[in-house]
Amino acid sequence: MPAGRIHEAINVGALGLLSASYVYEQNHLGLSEPAAFGFAVAYLIGTFLVTPDLDLAEQRVRAKGNWGVLGWLWVPYGLIFSHRGWSHTWIVGPLTRLVYMVLMGALLWFGGEALLHYLGVQLDLRGQVRLPPEQVLYSGVAGYFASQWMHLLADGIWPDAGFRRVRR
Ligand SMILES: [Zn+2]
Repeated sequence: MPAGRIHEAINVGALGLLSASYVYEQNHLGLSEPAAFGFAVAYLIGTFLVTPDLDLAEQRVRAKGNWGVLGWLWVPYGLIFSHRGWSHTWIVGPLTRLVYMVLMGALLWFGGEALLHYLGVQLDLRGQVRLPPEQVLYSGVAGYFASQWMHLLADGIWPDAGFRRVRR
């Protein structure tokens, strides 16, 4: 199984090829530039920050280090998921990390708000968050999944493994 640095190199290399073919085939693809950019950004996040190997976050792992001081937020994920178990499946694996981030984000948001409230700090951040246009959103999701699948392929885990648990 490749080391984190190798995974990153493989992923970035594949993105380079994809970008080149996008530029070359842009007229035929019908994919807008913001959508292609959304794909690339999500793909890079999935390559450097949100990788299947975060199932090792209870130890030292490269993706965790890329989060800097926030790396510890992934420790529970590492404790929950055994290395190369569900975290390394094609559909469920990437979803576990998305759900984990939503839950962790909500926990931090409401925890932080409660703490500020307790300390008597008034905070009004109820601005509207607008989602990007649909095509950009879908491209982002595709980019994230593509980065995860690239990692799995490099690990030698093929889609025909289906939901079969991967051997440790
Ligand atoms: Zn892996």
